[in-house]
Amino acid sequence: MEKKAVGLLSGGLDSTLAVKLMLEQGVEVFVINFITPFCTCTRKGCKLEARRVSEEFSINLKINPVGEEYIAIVKNPKYGYGKNMNPCIDCRIFMFSRAKDYMEEIKASFIFTGEVLGERPMSQRLSAMRLIERESGLEDRILRPLSAGLLKPTIPEREGIVDRARLFSIQGRSRKPQMKLARELGIVDYPCPAGGCRLTDSNFAERLRESFRHGEESLGDINLLKYGRHFRLQDRTKVIVGRNENENALICSLKSVDDLLFEVIDSPGPVTLLRGNKNPESILFAAALCARYSDGEGKLRVGYDDNKVITAEPITEDELQKQIIR
Ligand code: SF4
Repeated sequence: MEKKAVGLLSGGLDSTLAVKLMLEQGVEVFVINFITPFCTCTRKGCKLEARRVSEEFSINLKINPVGEEYIAIVKNPKYGYGKNMNPCIDCRIFMFSRAKDYMEEIKASFIFTGEVLGERPMSQRLSAMRLIERESGLEDRILRPLSAGLLKPTIPEREGIVDRARLFSIQGRSRKPQMKLARELGIVDYPCPAGGCRLTDSNFAERLRESFRHGEESLGDINLLKYGRHFRLQDRTKVIVGRNENENALICSLKSVDDLLFEVIDSPGPVTLLRGNKNPESILFAAALCARYSDGEGKLRVGYDDNKVITAEPITEDELQKQIIR
């Protein structure tokens, strides 16, 4: 059996420790990092952290962005949701299945992760771990070096590829044992534990449910959910208003060819995007919203669609409250 393994690497402390423990046992390590449309750090965070760790240890990193197929799982998970819209069990099955493909491609003999028994309520319970292993076709092939002493020996342990006596028995939600181990292993540079996944955020989950209800589930629709204030006009028609300069820029970058962008001409204000049905009513509504969140007062000229101009009064608070998506 090859002394070669694929590690799931987020770049956080647990997965970094797992990599270090495997390297110390002479395992040839390849790591894989997943970027989902719901990562809070798609533009830099996780990806950069995974790259930093892989460079520090001089190991091969495969970055695996996932899109529509992952959204389909989030919409209809076989094993249901956690507290919000997080289908953690299905998500882990998906990721392990992809990691298994990579393991087979490079002829590695097992997978390892930084998972800690009992650290996360949904996917890191013993029964969930077993289910995930079965469903991804990886029974006895997922080694969890931080909790291995509490789990039944996996194939690499049974076959002597890794020394079980040098693995750990950490469990629970406290990160103190991992921090102590990091000090002992000389790992000093690791990110603080952030949520990392918007699906666990109740506000985002509400937006996502609303979007699914209206049949908006493309990657473009999901990306737009992350920014701005959202207003529903009808099925597949909504308006998004930037809340700051950064969001204005991001909303502009996510505009599709069919969307319209609005901006108040004579006073500072937000970028406003209309997606869906572009009839006179929806155009006036988008312009009135754009005016409402600008610094201007009274009737305002609002530019849209490159060179068109419409005059709009700021929308009333009553109207705004009727259409806003919380
Ligand atoms: S928190 Fe998000 S990324 Fe993590 S397992 Fe759950 S659904 Fe997947």
